Amino acid sequence: MYRRLIAPGALAAALVLAIPASAADFEPGAPGIGDPYYPTYGNGGYDVSHYDLRLKYQPKTDLLEGTATLLATSTQDLSRFDLDLGLAASEVRVNGRKAAFTRSGVQELEVTPAAGLPKGTPFSVVVKYAGKPSDVKLWGFTSWQRTPDGGVAANEPEAAAWWFPSNDHPRDKATYDVSIAVPDGTQAISNGTLQSQSSKLGWTRFNWRSAHPQATYLATLAVGKFDITTDTTADGLPVVNAYSKDLGANEGAAKASVERTAEVAEWLESIYGKYPFEALGGYVPNVPSSFALETQTRPFYSPKQFANGSNVSVVVHELAHQWYGDSVSVKNWKDIWINEGFARYSQWLWSEKEGEGTAQELADYTYAQHPADDAFWTVKPGDPGAENQFDAAVYDRGALAIQALRNAVGEKKFFAVLKGWPKQHAYGNAEVADFVRYAEKVSGKKLGGLFDTWLYQPVRPEAPAVAAAPVREPRSFRQIAATNSVHDAH
Ligand SMILES: [Zn+2]
Repeated sequence: MYRRLIAPGALAAALVLAIPASAADFEPGAPGIGDPYYPTYGNGGYDVSHYDLRLKYQPKTDLLEGTATLLATSTQDLSRFDLDLGLAASEVRVNGRKAAFTRSGVQELEVTPAAGLPKGTPFSVVVKYAGKPSDVKLWGFTSWQRTPDGGVAANEPEAAAWWFPSNDHPRDKATYDVSIAVPDGTQAISNGTLQSQSSKLGWTRFNWRSAHPQATYLATLAVGKFDITTDTTADGLPVVNAYSKDLGANEGAAKASVERTAEVAEWLESIYGKYPFEALGGYVPNVPSSFALETQTRPFYSPKQFANGSNVSVVVHELAHQWYGDSVSVKNWKDIWINEGFARYSQWLWSEKEGEGTAQELADYTYAQHPADDAFWTVKPGDPGAENQFDAAVYDRGALAIQALRNAVGEKKFFAVLKGWPKQHAYGNAEVADFVRYAEKVSGKKLGGLFDTWLYQPVRPEAPAVAAAPVREPRSFRQIAATNSVHDAH
């Protein structure tokens, strides 16, 4: 990657000569982690293991202020490093000592510690910061949604910079303690478990903990007035759901859907293996948006998801992401199919279980919905481009690819792949090529042609069955019947 801060020519030479030889190799960390779609997202030179956020938020004014303490380790001899933050920093300390800092680019906060950090050094960073997140426009927008009684941070891929400084890329996961004080009578929702809640001087402080590695965009914060329901799963995990008190006509449908979280998670466990995190839930704030997001352990749902009545399918989608997206995360954003193709396919499996159409029937329907000249087929789910990262094709053609895999390898091996993959890469990152290799290993079949057809060719494959031809075996009536009753077999 191009390092924009190296001084050119003679000046650089003079600078090198002027500093002691022992420090000459210390260089700034890159301003991006190296994602081809988003070159400035995340940062180079260090790895964060833990975020401790101690915050205060006033809904009346939208003022968010606080202190972030990051525990990190340098991955190179580091003279300086970047954090990603949209709010204004007032003080930065590294290992307790005041550090110089300046803003650069859209979201970069360049931090120069008093002393260089040799490669492999654990270090702490304390950032004091404040601002009104809805006023902060990065890349021309804010990811902080105001509500009548508070605000919400939930978006993808850009969300963290509106509420905490970070190495903002899924490749650098960490654990989180989020402590936030809000006016008495207001609640604050975040990921994981509520460790404690207490009130003094008119402010109630909520202490949330997310104890497994979590990508920055999967960290969430919602402040407002909520109805909160709590329960415990059959396995003893806490379930915390929260609904804005202001959902109006959507309230019943929202609750009728999200209250089924534990049931859906139990069903998903039968397909994907043990639930990977320590808590479950979901929250529905009174936001104007229409999307939902797989924020870790506690998905975000816009009320519009429930405008037509209950929508358990979206709960299935966001909970499936806990395995496919949250525990196993993209290595680069171009790997988004690993998240969305499988979350969509999970909705098809739910439909199959509920008797509302098998995955094969939904695949045939989806294929038929898009004629050959539909631009839908020009988007390559395996490398859609940043502008098409969340295009319908990533989801629907992405799910067609998974159905093609199922037809090619048969029920037993297909479900072995689905269950084995989240375990293989638990709490880590992976790319599409890793999945192809894994599916080939488990199935014992060459699948390069199938995935090339379904994920990488900008044209409509001839037909699902034809696309699977290179690896297809003759399918007996018995196999077809098995396809349609998979849940009896699993
Ligand atoms: Zn999704």
